[in-house]
Amino acid sequence: MNTINGSTKNFVILGQPIEHTLSPAMYNAAFGALQYNGVYLACLVPEDKLAEAVQGIRALGIRGGNVTIPFKEKIIPYLDGITEEARLIGAVNTLYWEEERLMGANTDGLGFLKALQGTEPAAFDFSGAVILGAGGAAKAVGVSLALSGIPKIYVVNRDLAKAEGLARILRSIGSRVQILNWSNPELKGIISQTPLVINTTPLGMDPKIDVCPAIPYEALSVDHLAVDLIYKPAETLFLQKAKNQGCRIMNGLGMLLEQGVLSMDLWAGLEAPRAVMAQELERW
Ligand code: NAP
Repeated sequence: MNTINGSTKNFVILGQPIEHTLSPAMYNAAFGALQYNGVYLACLVPEDKLAEAVQGIRALGIRGGNVTIPFKEKIIPYLDGITEEARLIGAVNTLYWEEERLMGANTDGLGFLKALQGTEPAAFDFSGAVILGAGGAAKAVGVSLALSGIPKIYVVNRDLAKAEGLARILRSIGSRVQILNWSNPELKGIISQTPLVINTTPLGMDPKIDVCPAIPYEALSVDHLAVDLIYKPAETLFLQKAKNQGCRIMNGLGMLLEQGVLSMDLWAGLEAPRAVMAQELERW
């Protein structure tokens, strides 16, 4: 634990619920390793107190922080500006200061790409991606993939209006997008032809670990990389089934780490100690 004194710089994460967050463990370990005089705290913010919470950040000289469910979209009107990527995604996960302006960024998508690059250097040769789900995480992943130039993206979701909303954003960036529902008979052929399949739904997340997205797993092969944004459990049923088909697999821990590394850079140009942060996440 870092020594806390009158000069300690404060960072916060705002959310509701917040008890499950790994962010304080990850960032406080990083501050300790850097001998940076900072502390990172989780703040449980009642849903109707977001405006006051942001005022608090401004009034108390909080140096930066993060935002999680349910405030990632709702916080935007209270900020002085957001990055272009956050605008496209429509959500913010990082708060930082640009001189006197309290800004919002979204490091989830780029964090996902960096994790992909780290474990899978050939990832950017991918010709297309299948995104399972169309919620907030799917938007971050989809926008980053589209910005990175992946030409064809398939979005599989129950709520087709939500999928259409995501498709419009991705098309505006230049990707070709097709929307499918889970029972579409074309899904098998599409998956077999598309080397990157990403689960962005919460299906299989602890404690409901015995469920997985309903896709034709037999379409997966050694030519695929299957990615799950879930990191608890480390190997979801989706990843187990993909592994049984011979796929390479990746869970969400790398994305969590990389979005944190990017956030630290925005706060104070801090060079994040990646290995220490990864070790702390693994430990938790
Ligand atoms: P979200 O906005 O609520 O979106 C959830 C998506 O999953 C929606 O598209 C929803 O479909 C779909 N879905 C939910 N239950 C389903 C079911 N029973 N059958 C089929 N589809 C279902 O959630 P989110 O913020 O995107 O988070 C999604 C997951 O990503 C969570 O597990 C979260 O922990 C993980 N995540 C990980 C990281 C990381 O750093 N690794 C970062 C962010 C999120 P409908 O639209 O049809 O309802």
